Formats: sequence, structure tokens, C-alpha cells
Amino acid sequence: MKILVPVKRVVDYNVKVRVKSDESGMDIANVKMSMNPFDEIAIEEAVRLKESGVATEVIAVSCGVTQCTETLRTAMAIGADRAILIETTEELQPLAVAKLLNAIVIKEKPSLIILGKQAIDDDCNQTGQMLAALAHLPQATFASKLEVMDQQVQVTREIDGGLEVVSLRMPAVVTTDLRLNEPRFITLPNIVKAKKKPLETLKPEDLGVDVTPRIKTLKVSEPPVRGAGVRVADVDQLIDKLKNVAKVI
Ligand code: AMP
Repeated sequence: MKILVPVKRVVDYNVKVRVKSDESGMDIANVKMSMNPFDEIAIEEAVRLKESGVATEVIAVSCGVTQCTETLRTAMAIGADRAILIETTEELQPLAVAKLLNAIVIKEKPSLIILGKQAIDDDCNQTGQMLAALAHLPQATFASKLEVMDQQVQVTREIDGGLEVVSLRMPAVVTTDLRLNEPRFITLPNIVKAKKKPLETLKPEDLGVDVTPRIKTLKVSEPPVRGAGVRVADVDQLIDKLKNVAKVI
């Protein structure tokens, strides 16, 4: 059983990004880039399925610039067997990524595709759902538990106010939530091993996919700066302030 895991290269979650002075987007020149945290969880889950004998091969795939190979090497250091880079300098939007991934699904025929529930840079939460629609596959989003039984995958989903358990016929698309697992630390020997694992590079044209963006970003701006707080002497003054503020509102 093959598992395909799409991994996105994003600005590291510890970096505080700034808006460019012309408000055309975020300034990400020279900032630290890492694997999208939800994708790390996806790779970890796939590797655990392989380690427990359920899966036979884990393939990581990333779409984007040449430097995505670093993200793919990280995926292979966690335990993916091989990787595919779909290389392009075009700005990729979720529909384009879903089309590229669909082409890989047709080529590789995985039984399970595990994506992150969202990329922390665009917060779109769309790619998994779009891929499932394009590939005509069942989907379970926001997975906090995943169990493979014969040709079925049972997924516990985090939904508002509780948990929902669904069973999907494989092949299927699953997207990860934070509580699915805690990714392992990557060891130095595994980083070295990952350098020797196969990495195939394709272009969108090789897959017959047009990745031209369909959405244009008009403006990106900083959130409004919060006004300074006021220190009050006692509870009575606080109540007075709250009443006055309430009146203004
Ligand atoms: P999004 O819909 O952009 O929030 O992304 C959801 C998930 O789709 C991510 O967690 C990844 O698993 C996958 N994904 C999005 N963009 C890419 C990309 N450029 N390369 C590989 N996987 C991606």
C-alpha cells in the first residue's frame, strides 16, 4: 500500500513576517523556511503506518521552487522512501496544487493521500478538498486518529463540539489536525540517509497542468495597531471605565 504525502515549504512558524512597504505581499526575503507543521504530522503518520507494516511505501511530493528539495529531504529524513518535486517559480494557488497532485495520484496510484489540513502561510484549507473532488476520491478532513482496516480507513475527525468517526473506502484523501500525532525529532544518521534516497523532478508541463494563478492579491496590510491600555487604581475605577467605554460603544 502506497501513501502519498504532499509537503509544502512555508515560512517557519517562529518567524514574524512583515508586510512589504508597497503592501503587495509579505516580505519573505532571507527568512527561515520549514516544512508546513501539519505536513510534518502527515509524514509522521504515513511513516508510522509503514513501520507498523500497514503501508509499503511513503512518497513525499512538493510543488514549488527548487529549494523545496530541502523540505523533501526533511520528509525523507523522517522516513519517506522517495520524493517528487514539481518544480515551478509560478505563484501556486490551491487549485493549481490540487491539479498537480491529481496528476501524481493518477501516475502513482496511492491508496492513501495524507495532506495537512492547511498551510500556515496562506491558511487556505482548500487543497485536500479540491484534490478529493478532482480525483473523485472520498475525503476526511481534520483527522485526529487514523486506522487502516482492509480496504477501509477509519478516521476520527475534530469537529465543532466533539469528534466524528467516519469510514472511507480507499483510495482516500485525509487531512491532518494537530492532535493526530507528535512528529519525531530528526536524527543526524537519518538526515545523511535521506540524501541518498531518490528524488524525481518534474515540471507542471510534464504533467499537462496549467498552473497560471486565477486569483490576484490586490493588497496586504498589517492589522490595526492596538491602542495603549489604561492602568486603573481600583475596582471601582475599573467599573467606571467599563461603563464609560460601554456608553461610547
Ligand atoms: P492549503 O489548502 O494551502 O491550506 O494547504 C493544505 C495542504 O495542501 C498542505 O498542508 C499541504 O499538505 C498541501 N499543499 C499545499 N500547497 C502545497 C505545495 N505547494 N506543495 C505540496 N503540498 C502542498
